[in-house]
Amino acid sequence: MKTKNELLKERLQFIAEIAHEIRIPLAGIISFSELLLTPNLDRGKIIIYSNYINTCSSSLLELLNNLIIRSKLESQDGIVVNGILDLNLFLDESTKHFKMQSELSNTSLSTVYGLKGDASMIITDSLKLNVILNNLIGNAIKFTKKGKIKIGYLKRQNYLEFYVEDSGIGIPNEVKKNIFKPFYQVKNKVNSSGLGLSVTKSLVELLGGDIWFNSKQNIGTKFSFTIPYKQIIME
Ligand code: ADP
Repeated sequence: MKTKNELLKERLQFIAEIAHEIRIPLAGIISFSELLLTPNLDRGKIIIYSNYINTCSSSLLELLNNLIIRSKLESQDGIVVNGILDLNLFLDESTKHFKMQSELSNTSLSTVYGLKGDASMIITDSLKLNVILNNLIGNAIKFTKKGKIKIGYLKRQNYLEFYVEDSGIGIPNEVKKNIFKPFYQVKNKVNSSGLGLSVTKSLVELLGGDIWFNSKQNIGTKFSFTIPYKQIIME
């Protein structure tokens, strides 16, 4: 059991980390919006500055979303809300905007479905599954400058195994043990908070699954996770 002092220290450290993570993109938004006010700016520069503001804002939004989920999980409010899900349709929908994003960079994004028809109608918490996939695919895009990203799932015994595989920068061996820790980043990047994977792991575990990864530097990374396979029995 942690003492009151230890809990207070942890809390203060957490607040300091959040403040730091918010400050970086916010400072970016302020400086680049000031630069946008430069008279007679050419179109190329306007696009670069606007893209930067966009990246910083998305990063802030991602951080806040993950913080909300994390605080819900910590306050034991992280209840599973199961519903019926057409898994293949769901994958199409949740990868749609990432497909556009990857087209803008030099990556191709493909989806592989492990089940067809009725077998792909399952019961799960689609909101949580969506956050898990969003975090993993978002990372795959962030850390892959060119090449391929493959998203898919397959059925194994009584569970589904999902994967998000990329041909990106990979994760160095010496930091692999830290990757699921809150606020951990290999390099402090502007569009990165280090919260995504810790939240992702908690959500996968809440759904009754496991998460792991294999990665080789400069070759790529494959994140895999499982959830129970609960098929809907059609009448
Ligand atoms: P964020 O992506 O916001 O930094 P995460 O918790 O999602 O936070 O990831 C923690 C760190 O793990 C990242 O900063 C990055 O260094 C590393 N990482 C995560 N996914 C990948 C990936 N697909 N390829 C390479 N590195 C990754």
